[in-house]
Amino acid sequence: MSTHSQPDYAALASDIKRWARELGFAEAGISGVTLGQDEQHLQSWLKDGYHGEMEYMARHGNRRSRPDELEPGTQRVISVRMDYMPPGTQHAWDVLGDAEAGYVARYALGRDYHKLMRNRLQKLAERIRGSIGDFGYRAYVDSAPVLEKALARNAGLGWIGKHTVLINRQAGSYFFLGELYTNLPLPIDVAASAHCGTCRKCIDICPTQAIVGPYRLDARRCISYLTIELKGSIPEELRAPMGNRIFGCDDCQLICPWNKFAQDATEPDFAPRHSLDGAKLVELFGWSEAEFLQRTEGMAIRRTGYEGWLRNIAVALGNAPPSVEVLSALQARADHPSEIVREHVAWALTRQQAAASAA
Ligand code: SF4
Repeated sequence: MSTHSQPDYAALASDIKRWARELGFAEAGISGVTLGQDEQHLQSWLKDGYHGEMEYMARHGNRRSRPDELEPGTQRVISVRMDYMPPGTQHAWDVLGDAEAGYVARYALGRDYHKLMRNRLQKLAERIRGSIGDFGYRAYVDSAPVLEKALARNAGLGWIGKHTVLINRQAGSYFFLGELYTNLPLPIDVAASAHCGTCRKCIDICPTQAIVGPYRLDARRCISYLTIELKGSIPEELRAPMGNRIFGCDDCQLICPWNKFAQDATEPDFAPRHSLDGAKLVELFGWSEAEFLQRTEGMAIRRTGYEGWLRNIAVALGNAPPSVEVLSALQARADHPSEIVREHVAWALTRQQAAASAA
């Protein structure tokens, strides 16, 4: 990182927050680089194996919890948040209550946020450079081992709820986070205080009991992990509780009382594409690989891959009310070349046939 002259850092910090808002971020805050307790929390979470197949969580030694080891010279982290709930989206509980529809986590309905947010962070850095000249920085949006929630909490953007998601008192939890690591000795904001109190609604509602205790998430049971990160077979005992969730899960956030303060996204790129906010499972299951690739271009849903997409929808179809339409959609995929897809389709067909004969 390069050296720089001595600007008025307090004035610069308030300029940075204003510029961040002008660039479409809902809020920005500044933290130092000390994350001692969070480092311990991460280590014990990894030791318990709660990260499942997400080996990358364990791969980087202490760099995840030590920003100045990831990017030498870092003194401060500017954390930003951007609201993602698209206005006019089909109501989440309605979709979850319609077993013939597929539920996609609300953050994933529109264009992938990574590039958009990184570009905005880059613009923020350019504004800073325009004001003070060259300085050291690096922008991150899920692109490196970064303890983003702990940093954002220390920057005053919210507290980490019992479901392990960041919550903001004025804006709930439907937002993305990004970071600008910098060598500028900016004044540090006051960390946010916690306001979960005695509430445990997120723990109780989790369909797969993945929140094994306050602030402790067993990712191996989490539907977000099962439908996105896990590449192989979904454990059978977790398939029925997945219901119609085919990409991610929002239950712990939907139930959180603080989300009555959630703000709509102002970014048009986050608007739902291809009616994915409530599309029918049978229709989605009928997509060819070419259709999947074309329709999910530039979207986070791509991450699950076509095989994962069919696997997830097969599970949801197995949980759907029995119908000729569902049965024939599953039968059409019974000989799919992928063993993973075939196995989940076979499971779903057994469920469908059992439900039909019980009806
Ligand atoms: S549902 Fe309750 S316990 Fe869970 S994060 Fe929200 S306030 Fe905290």
